[in-house]
Amino acid sequence: MIVARDRGALSDALEPLRERGTVALVPTMGYLHDGHLSLVDIARESADSVVVSIFVNPLQFGVGEDLETYPRSEEHDLDRLRERGVEVVFTPTVPEMYPDGDPIVTVSPGRLGRRLCGAFRPGHFAGVLTVVARLFGLVRPDAAAFGQKDYQQATLIRRMVRDLEMGVEVVTGPIVREADGLAMSSRNANLTPAERESAVGLSRALEAGADALATGITDAPRVLDHVRAVLSGFDLLELQYAEVVDARSLETVDVVREGNVLALAAFCGTTRLIDNRVL
Ligand code: AMP
Repeated sequence: MIVARDRGALSDALEPLRERGTVALVPTMGYLHDGHLSLVDIARESADSVVVSIFVNPLQFGVGEDLETYPRSEEHDLDRLRERGVEVVFTPTVPEMYPDGDPIVTVSPGRLGRRLCGAFRPGHFAGVLTVVARLFGLVRPDAAAFGQKDYQQATLIRRMVRDLEMGVEVVTGPIVREADGLAMSSRNANLTPAERESAVGLSRALEAGADALATGITDAPRVLDHVRAVLSGFDLLELQYAEVVDARSLETVDVVREGNVLALAAFCGTTRLIDNRVL
C-alpha cells in the first residue's frame, strides 16, 4: 500500500494502477470504522484498484463546529486499510490540498443543499462538493463510493456528477450499524458513556417511524409524531430535525410512500449525529 502525502506522490502511485485497469476512490475524513471499510469492499467490486483519501476538509466545517475536535488516528487507519488490501491512500495536509488557499471557484449544491442538514449547516455541502470535485480531479477515478449514512451528501454527489458530466460512476453502500443499532460514525468516539446510551435513540426512532408506516399510517406528520415520541424518551438527545422526504428532490412529503426517506439529525451533548432510513 502506498501512502501518498502530496499530489506528486499520488500521481506517481496512480500511474501503474491506471495502466492495470480501473480505479475507484473512497473519500473519507479518517478515524475509520466498519462503515468506511464496507465502502472499500464496494469500491473493490466496481474497479480493479482502490484509492482511499483521508482528509478532514476544513471547507465543510462551519464556525463553531467540530473541526478541532474531529477524531483522528492515522496509524490505526493505515493499518486497517492495509489489511483490506487498499492500493493507495492519499492523506494530504490542508495546504497540500488547497495550495492556493481556500478555492475561489466552488461547487454550489443549489436547492438540494438547503434541505435537511443544509438548513442548519450553511456552506457545508458546498465544502463537501468542492473537495470531492477536487479529489475527482486529482485521482480521476472511474468510480467512487459513498455511504447512505450521509444520504443527502450521496444524493448531492450523484447530482453533481450528472449535472457537471464528471464521468464518475457513483456507487453507494448501506448504513453499517453497531450491534444496538447506532449508525457507525467517527463522531461516536466523542460521546460520553451516558451520551452513547442516548445515541441509540436515533435508530430506535427511525424504527418507530417504519413501524408506524407498517401499521398503515401514511400521514407524514403522524409518522413523525411516533418518531418524536421515541426520541423524547432519550434524555441527552436534542432533535434538530425529523423529516420524511422524497428520495431524489429531498422535498418533504405529506403522504408517505415507499422509497421515501425518513431523516433525522440530533445533538447528543455537543456531538451532532445524523441517521436515516429508506421507508
Ligand atoms: P466520513 O469519514 O464521515 O466523511 O465518511 C466517509 C464515507 O463513509 C462517506 O461516504 C460516508 O457516508 C461513509 N460512511 C460513514 N459512516 C458510515 C456508516 N455507518 N455506514 C456506511 N457508510 C458510512
